[in-house]
Amino acid sequence: AIRRTVIPSIEESYVGKGESADPLAEEHTTAVQGLVHRYPDRVLFLTTSFCSTYCRYCTRSRMVGGHTEALQKHWEEALAYITEHTEVRDVVISGGDPLTLSDEMLDYLLGRVTGIEHVEMVRIGTKVPMVMPQRINESLLAVLRKYKPIYMSIHATHPDELTREAARACNALADNGVVLGSQTVLLKGVNDSVPVLTDLFHKLLRVRVKPYYLFQCDPISGSQHFRTTVDKGKALMQGLRGFTSGYAIPQYVIDTPGGGGKVPILPQYEVGQDDEHLYLRNYEGKVFSYPTARENATC
Ligand SMILES: *Cc1c(COP(=O)(O)O)cnc(C)c1O
Repeated sequence: AIRRTVIPSIEESYVGKGESADPLAEEHTTAVQGLVHRYPDRVLFLTTSFCSTYCRYCTRSRMVGGHTEALQKHWEEALAYITEHTEVRDVVISGGDPLTLSDEMLDYLLGRVTGIEHVEMVRIGTKVPMVMPQRINESLLAVLRKYKPIYMSIHATHPDELTREAARACNALADNGVVLGSQTVLLKGVNDSVPVLTDLFHKLLRVRVKPYYLFQCDPISGSQHFRTTVDKGKALMQGLRGFTSGYAIPQYVIDTPGGGGKVPILPQYEVGQDDEHLYLRNYEGKVFSYPTARENATC
């Protein structure tokens, strides 16, 4: 499964309908080079184009690999933008993979971002704990410990990634005060089954990583062989809810092509409504009614 996610295959040469190099139109919501400002109160800071793994379905494959220095040249402009925009309270530090930066550069970056008065939280998007767990060493942890709160979104794809070494890395991050979540891309033939997803999310929870998002695979050029239908994704979510801990269940989302942002997708749980009731289907397929109060009801 892991091999399929990183080794190029001939299927990538086929560009399917609706696929493009930048489906999320990030280039159009780029405020300054390397900074995507799509939502009102948070920004995505692409700090480096170097990555820890080159996933074949990567939504930023247009800009990762090679040009290591390219984005670092623009850090000061991005920091100035965040400083000027007092509505930004949350900064997502991503790339490439920011944990491929040196401890010194990360320390500098985190110091600058958390030093901005209106920035309340920082999140680091990374796959390093899964693919290069030895990077989570004492000197990196000493840097991360200095800044609170730091959230980390770990890209996790398959339960086989949760090796003893990866587990140690996640636990070390949690022990040092980093709040951990995971992001998973739903991939055909890799993780598109209830048992595989359940195993992945259970293994993450055991090492204190809360499953955060399950992404429908973005229509990046040459990714059709990885994409499941949305109905399949809904069926998988239905196979989780109720059958395991709510903590093990991420939000299934589509990051909308064109730059509309993430939209949650749910199986059909609301099956009907009348003046007095909302009809809800539970995980066993049984329908229950919930008494709905009218907005202007008088007692
Ligand atoms: C995903 C994303 C975020 C963060 O979204 P959350 O739903 O808050 O996790 C912010 N900016 C951009 C451009 C994103 O793609």
